[in-house]
Amino acid sequence: SSFSELDLPERLLEVLQRQGLTSPSAIQAETLPNSLAGRDVLGRSQTGSGKTLAFGLPLLTRLEGRTAQPGSPLALVLAPTRELAQQVTEALTPYARSVRARVTTVVGGMSLSRQAQSLRRGTELVVATPGRLRDLVERGDCRLDQVGTTVLDEADQMTDMGFMPQVTAILQQIPSDGQRMLFSATLDRNVDTLVRRFLHDPVVHSV
Ligand code: AMP
Repeated sequence: SSFSELDLPERLLEVLQRQGLTSPSAIQAETLPNSLAGRDVLGRSQTGSGKTLAFGLPLLTRLEGRTAQPGSPLALVLAPTRELAQQVTEALTPYARSVRARVTTVVGGMSLSRQAQSLRRGTELVVATPGRLRDLVERGDCRLDQVGTTVLDEADQMTDMGFMPQVTAILQQIPSDGQRMLFSATLDRNVDTLVRRFLHDPVVHSV
Protein backbone atom coordinates (compact mmCIF):
# COMPACT_ATOMS: atom_id res chain seq x y z
CA SER A 1 0.00 0.00 0.00
CA SER A 2 0.98 3.64 -0.24
CA PHE A 3 0.56 6.72 1.95
CA SER A 4 -1.23 8.43 -0.94
CA GLU A 5 -4.16 6.01 -0.57
CA LEU A 6 -4.79 7.37 2.90
CA ASP A 7 -6.89 10.42 3.63
CA LEU A 8 -3.89 12.62 4.49
CA PRO A 9 -3.52 16.33 3.72
CA GLU A 10 -1.49 17.04 0.57
CA ARG A 11 1.10 18.93 2.64
CA LEU A 12 1.82 15.92 4.84
CA LEU A 13 2.06 13.65 1.77
CA GLU A 14 4.64 16.02 0.32
CA VAL A 15 6.81 15.81 3.46
CA LEU A 16 6.55 12.00 3.51
CA GLN A 17 7.71 11.96 -0.09
CA ARG A 18 10.57 14.35 0.67
CA GLN A 19 11.67 12.10 3.54
CA GLY A 20 11.68 9.14 1.17
CA LEU A 21 8.79 7.37 2.90
CA THR A 22 6.41 5.75 0.44
CA SER A 23 4.60 2.88 2.12
CA PRO A 24 3.23 2.75 5.67
CA SER A 25 4.91 0.44 8.20
CA ALA A 26 2.79 -2.35 9.74
CA ILE A 27 1.56 -0.28 12.67
CA GLN A 28 0.86 2.71 10.41
CA ALA A 29 -1.04 0.61 7.86
CA GLU A 30 -3.14 -0.96 10.58
CA THR A 31 -3.96 2.13 12.62
CA LEU A 32 -3.96 5.13 10.26
CA PRO A 33 -7.30 4.49 8.52
CA ASN A 34 -8.92 4.34 11.97
CA SER A 35 -6.96 7.10 13.68
CA LEU A 36 -7.55 9.44 10.71
CA ALA A 37 -11.26 8.74 11.20
CA GLY A 38 -10.93 9.88 14.81
CA ARG A 39 -10.83 6.55 16.64
CA ASP A 40 -8.72 5.91 19.72
CA VAL A 41 -5.65 3.73 19.22
CA LEU A 42 -3.84 1.19 21.38
CA GLY A 43 -0.47 0.39 19.83
CA ARG A 44 1.62 -2.49 21.14
CA SER A 45 4.92 -1.45 19.72
CA GLN A 46 8.47 -0.40 20.26
CA THR A 47 10.85 2.17 18.92
CA GLY A 48 11.66 1.42 15.30
CA SER A 49 8.12 0.40 14.35
CA GLY A 50 7.21 3.81 13.00
CA LYS A 51 4.93 4.65 15.91
CA THR A 52 5.88 8.34 15.93
CA LEU A 53 4.25 8.90 12.55
CA ALA A 54 1.43 6.50 13.46
CA PHE A 55 0.32 9.09 16.02
CA GLY A 56 1.95 12.16 14.45
CA LEU A 57 0.17 12.04 11.11
CA PRO A 58 -3.41 11.87 12.45
CA LEU A 59 -2.55 14.41 15.16
CA LEU A 60 -1.17 16.91 12.63
CA THR A 61 -4.03 16.21 10.19
CA ARG A 62 -6.41 17.44 12.91
CA LEU A 63 -4.28 20.54 13.51
CA GLU A 64 -4.20 21.68 9.90
CA GLY A 65 -5.80 25.11 9.59
CA ARG A 66 -6.22 25.56 13.34
CA THR A 67 -4.57 28.13 15.60
CA ALA A 68 -4.17 27.73 19.34
CA GLN A 69 -5.04 30.51 21.75
CA PRO A 70 -2.11 31.65 23.92
CA GLY A 71 -1.40 29.11 26.65
CA SER A 72 -3.98 26.63 25.34
CA PRO A 73 -2.43 23.93 23.13
CA LEU A 74 -4.69 21.79 20.92
CA ALA A 75 -2.68 18.55 21.07
CA LEU A 76 -0.44 16.85 23.60
CA VAL A 77 2.14 14.06 23.43
CA LEU A 78 3.38 12.72 26.77
CA ALA A 79 6.68 10.84 26.85
CA PRO A 80 8.64 9.31 29.74
CA THR A 81 12.01 10.99 29.18
CA ARG A 82 13.48 14.24 27.97
CA GLU A 83 15.38 12.36 25.25
CA LEU A 84 12.28 10.70 23.88
CA ALA A 85 10.31 13.95 23.96
CA GLN A 86 13.07 15.67 22.02
CA GLN A 87 13.18 12.82 19.50
CA VAL A 88 9.44 13.06 18.96
CA THR A 89 9.65 16.83 18.42
CA GLU A 90 12.53 16.41 16.02
CA ALA A 91 10.80 13.67 14.03
CA LEU A 92 7.55 15.63 13.75
CA THR A 93 9.01 19.08 13.08
CA PRO A 94 9.06 18.96 9.25
CA TYR A 95 5.48 17.64 9.21
CA ALA A 96 4.32 20.21 11.77
CA ARG A 97 5.94 23.00 9.79
CA SER A 98 4.09 21.96 6.64
CA VAL A 99 0.71 22.40 8.34
CA ARG A 100 1.92 25.49 10.23
CA ALA A 101 1.60 23.88 13.63
CA ARG A 102 3.89 25.28 16.30
CA VAL A 103 5.54 22.69 18.56
CA THR A 104 6.84 23.26 22.09
CA THR A 105 8.91 20.71 23.97
CA VAL A 106 8.21 20.84 27.70
CA VAL A 107 10.80 18.85 29.66
CA GLY A 108 12.75 19.04 32.89
CA GLY A 109 16.37 20.07 33.08
CA MET A 110 15.87 22.96 30.68
CA SER A 111 14.76 26.54 31.09
CA LEU A 112 11.25 26.66 32.53
CA SER A 113 10.79 30.33 31.71
CA ARG A 114 11.54 29.76 28.02
CA GLN A 115 9.03 26.94 27.87
CA ALA A 116 6.47 29.13 29.65
CA GLN A 117 7.13 31.94 27.19
CA SER A 118 6.69 29.63 24.21
CA LEU A 119 3.38 28.40 25.65
CA ARG A 120 2.15 31.93 26.27
CA ARG A 121 2.95 32.92 22.69
CA GLY A 122 0.75 30.08 21.54
CA THR A 123 1.59 26.58 20.40
CA GLU A 124 -0.65 24.05 18.72
CA LEU A 125 1.28 20.97 19.91
CA VAL A 126 3.05 20.31 23.20
CA VAL A 127 5.45 17.36 23.53
CA ALA A 128 6.10 16.91 27.24
CA THR A 129 7.32 14.85 30.12
CA PRO A 130 4.65 14.62 32.84
CA GLY A 131 6.51 16.32 35.72
CA ARG A 132 7.44 19.52 33.92
CA LEU A 133 4.04 19.80 32.27
CA ARG A 134 2.37 19.56 35.69
CA ASP A 135 4.59 22.40 36.93
CA LEU A 136 3.64 24.63 34.02
CA VAL A 137 -0.06 23.82 34.38
CA GLU A 138 0.09 24.62 38.10
CA ARG A 139 1.87 27.90 37.42
CA GLY A 140 -0.93 28.81 35.03
CA ASP A 141 1.31 28.88 31.96
CA CYS A 142 -0.57 26.06 30.27
CA ARG A 143 -4.25 25.14 30.15
CA LEU A 144 -5.34 21.72 28.93
CA ASP A 145 -9.03 22.35 28.26
CA GLN A 146 -8.54 22.87 24.52
CA VAL A 147 -6.54 19.68 23.98
CA GLY A 148 -8.36 17.56 21.39
CA THR A 149 -5.72 14.90 20.69
CA THR A 150 -3.68 13.22 23.41
CA VAL A 151 -0.90 10.67 22.96
CA LEU A 152 0.80 8.58 25.64
CA ASP A 153 4.08 7.37 24.19
CA GLU A 154 5.93 4.48 25.86
CA ALA A 155 3.24 4.28 28.51
CA ASP A 156 4.86 1.30 30.22
CA GLN A 157 8.06 3.27 30.80
CA MET A 158 6.02 6.20 32.03
CA THR A 159 4.28 4.10 34.70
CA ASP A 160 7.53 2.24 35.58
CA MET A 161 9.16 5.59 36.29
CA GLY A 162 6.42 6.51 38.75
CA PHE A 163 4.61 9.05 36.58
CA MET A 164 1.18 7.48 37.06
CA PRO A 165 -0.07 10.23 39.46
CA GLN A 166 1.11 13.05 37.19
CA VAL A 167 -0.26 11.36 34.07
CA THR A 168 -3.63 10.80 35.73
CA ALA A 169 -3.77 14.40 36.97
CA ILE A 170 -2.97 15.68 33.47
CA LEU A 171 -5.55 13.44 31.79
CA GLN A 172 -8.24 14.62 34.21
CA GLN A 173 -7.84 18.17 32.89
CA ILE A 174 -8.26 17.17 29.25
CA PRO A 175 -11.79 17.04 27.81
CA SER A 176 -12.90 13.41 27.57
CA ASP A 177 -14.43 13.71 24.10
CA GLY A 178 -11.09 14.07 22.32
CA GLN A 179 -9.02 11.46 20.53
CA ARG A 180 -6.56 9.41 22.56
CA MET A 181 -3.71 7.18 21.46
CA LEU A 182 -1.56 5.02 23.71
CA PHE A 183 1.62 3.22 22.72
CA SER A 184 3.40 0.71 24.89
CA ALA A 185 5.80 -2.20 24.38
CA THR A 186 4.15 -4.16 27.18
CA LEU A 187 0.70 -4.13 28.77
CA ASP A 188 1.22 -4.57 32.49
CA ARG A 189 -1.36 -3.81 35.16
CA ASN A 190 -0.64 -0.10 35.35
CA VAL A 191 -0.82 0.36 31.60
CA ASP A 192 -4.00 -1.69 31.52
CA THR A 193 -5.50 0.69 34.08
CA LEU A 194 -4.62 3.62 31.84
CA VAL A 195 -6.06 1.86 28.79
CA ARG A 196 -9.35 1.17 30.53
CA ARG A 197 -9.71 4.65 31.99
CA PHE A 198 -8.37 6.56 29.07
CA LEU A 199 -9.24 4.87 25.77
CA HIS A 200 -12.70 4.52 24.27
CA ASP A 201 -13.22 1.46 22.05
CA PRO A 202 -9.68 1.63 20.66
CA VAL A 203 -8.42 0.03 17.49
CA VAL A 204 -5.71 -2.33 18.75
CA HIS A 205 -2.45 -2.97 17.00
CA SER A 206 -0.25 -5.72 18.39
CA VAL A 207 3.04 -6.71 16.85
P1 AMP B 1 9.83 5.28 15.34
O1 AMP B 1 9.38 3.87 15.59
O2 AMP B 1 8.68 6.22 15.22
O3 AMP B 1 10.85 5.73 16.33
O4 AMP B 1 10.54 5.32 13.89
C1 AMP B 1 11.73 4.62 13.62
C2 AMP B 1 12.32 5.00 12.25
O5 AMP B 1 11.51 4.49 11.19
C3 AMP B 1 12.44 6.49 11.99
O6 AMP B 1 13.74 6.75 11.54
C4 AMP B 1 11.45 6.78 10.90
O7 AMP B 1 11.88 7.79 10.04
C5 AMP B 1 11.33 5.47 10.19
N1 AMP B 1 10.02 5.27 9.56
C6 AMP B 1 8.83 5.63 10.08
N2 AMP B 1 7.82 5.27 9.25
C7 AMP B 1 8.40 4.69 8.18
C8 AMP B 1 7.88 4.13 6.95
N3 AMP B 1 6.58 4.09 6.71
N4 AMP B 1 8.77 3.62 6.07
C9 AMP B 1 10.09 3.65 6.33
N5 AMP B 1 10.65 4.16 7.45
C10 AMP B 1 9.80 4.68 8.37
